[in-house]
Amino acid sequence: MCSIIGYSGNEIAAPIIVKGLKRMEYRGYDSVGVATESDNAIELKKGIGKVSEVNSKVELDKLPGKIGIGHTRWATHGKVTDLNAHPHPSNSGKIAIVHNGIIENFEELKKQLEEEGYNFKSETDSEIIANLLQKNYEDTKNVKETIMKTVSVIKGHYAFVAMFENGQIAAARFHEPLIVGVGQENIFLSSDVLGFIEYTDNAIYI
Ligand code: GLU
Repeated sequence: MCSIIGYSGNEIAAPIIVKGLKRMEYRGYDSVGVATESDNAIELKKGIGKVSEVNSKVELDKLPGKIGIGHTRWATHGKVTDLNAHPHPSNSGKIAIVHNGIIENFEELKKQLEEEGYNFKSETDSEIIANLLQKNYEDTKNVKETIMKTVSVIKGHYAFVAMFENGQIAAARFHEPLIVGVGQENIFLSSDVLGFIEYTDNAIYI
């Protein structure tokens, strides 16, 4: 198990995400990371260890911007390394994702993407989601269509949240938990209501 969280609202995202990840620590993990969007650029920090340890080393909660995603990883594909920690950026750096679960056909998809010139920096199955989204977004220029095209080819079980450089955030789930929290002026996506419990009790189970 691991935890994913996404936030879009009128407050600085990173401290809210770090707090949410801490509340979900009971789910177990080996590494942690956060990415945020600000001024049409994505910034990302991650590393091995507990949320508080990694935060005091790299200041996850100081990332700028009001939109962000966060993750605590329980490694299934690839060693426990800083590079394998989530979020994972796409090759262009214009999209970043956090993923919970397993993509069973990632080797086949990775090979296809490599043939098209994409390269992979981590050993994870998850990184293919970032590059598939990039490919489909470049084709469609539409976030919803991009997500639909992507989930039509990946096999396995997953919940993922994707953040686009233009500040859009989108998510999908299949056999892994993902809950939408609807606040007054903010939206959360989270593996557990604990990720947003102090901000809203208006939860939608997808
Ligand atoms: N399969 C992914 C990985 O190994 C995600 C694992 C998880 O759910 O934390 O990075």
